[in-house]
Amino acid sequence: MSFKISGISGGKEEKHEIVIIGSGPAGLTAGIYAVRGGADAILIGGYSFGGQLMLTTEVENFPGFPEPILGPELMKRMRAQAERLGVNIIDKDATEINLLERPFRITVEEDTYYADAVILAMGASPRELGIPSERKFKGKGVSYCAVCDGMFFKGMDVAVIGGGDTAIEDAIYLSKICKSVTVIHRRDKLRAQAVLQKRAFSIPNIKFVWNSEVVEIYGTQKVEGVKVKNKMTNEISSLPVQGVFVDIGHIPNTSLVEGQVELTENKYIKLYGETGTSIKGVFAAGDIADPVYRQAITAAGMGAKAALDALRYLQELKEKS
Ligand code: NAP
Repeated sequence: MSFKISGISGGKEEKHEIVIIGSGPAGLTAGIYAVRGGADAILIGGYSFGGQLMLTTEVENFPGFPEPILGPELMKRMRAQAERLGVNIIDKDATEINLLERPFRITVEEDTYYADAVILAMGASPRELGIPSERKFKGKGVSYCAVCDGMFFKGMDVAVIGGGDTAIEDAIYLSKICKSVTVIHRRDKLRAQAVLQKRAFSIPNIKFVWNSEVVEIYGTQKVEGVKVKNKMTNEISSLPVQGVFVDIGHIPNTSLVEGQVELTENKYIKLYGETGTSIKGVFAAGDIADPVYRQAITAAGMGAKAALDALRYLQELKEKS
């Protein structure tokens, strides 16, 4: 059961059986399973609802959609489904998570939520190149989201950095808007799925620069080009572009729980069993705990498992008391 009281900070305080943090496929699916399993659950969804699918274009590998569906549309539908079933979604960021005391405590600005079980589903964020000029030109030609920013580069020359699914999907997307797209990849083979590679290789305005890394992004007010180092010859050349899309993977959003729950070497949540963590009653699902599969469908599957595991845990708690 949940209860509501007024907090010392002026915000409200609520206690729930399960608090889910994150509103990507993992979090929303966990919400659906938790409420259908009879639990009192709320979901802290963050200001930027929907996770990484909000940054994608067409999704054609999520079962149930014979025609491609836009990532944001898929998330809108998942949300509508979760809300219809009774998941209360808070569209604010969790500002603090305390997993060292029981009940667990999640602070959302001035409000405090207590929980018997927590499902961590905060996903992952785009990885940065880490060169000084990248920060300088963020929002002035450097982007991490082709779907969000592609239109700003209509008719222009752009570069995409990376060789994974995201990079190649973005290159294909941008090729329809931009004059040219140059994919700069640090190896001579793409990591992306074969179907995407085949599509990209057949598009005339997508070019590839292999075995190369971007060492500098240059320009005055805005991006005017990149300096590219060939890793085989160490030769540095300039590529004039007005946009740079950085698509080199992701880092898990574990900073709020670091030092509390055990993390892996790469700062993902360390799992015990399918969705359990080093803290009993704390579960994890989706990209925050999965450096391998990282698909919408696998995240959703993990979300379902995390909710079922949390329900089982709550049952055990009831039987003990
Ligand atoms: P990813 O698979 O980790 O690929 C990252 C790419 O960036 C790799 O090609 C990597 O090179 C390169 N890279 C990493 N660090 C770099 C650095 N510091 N400098 C230069 N290049 C660097 O990431 P992703 O493409 O974002 O995909 C993430 C996950 O989402 C994957 O599991 C992917 O399958 C999935 N996804 C699926 C779809 C879909 O199914 N439609 C769409 C998008 C994403 P190396 O190849 O040399 O390692």
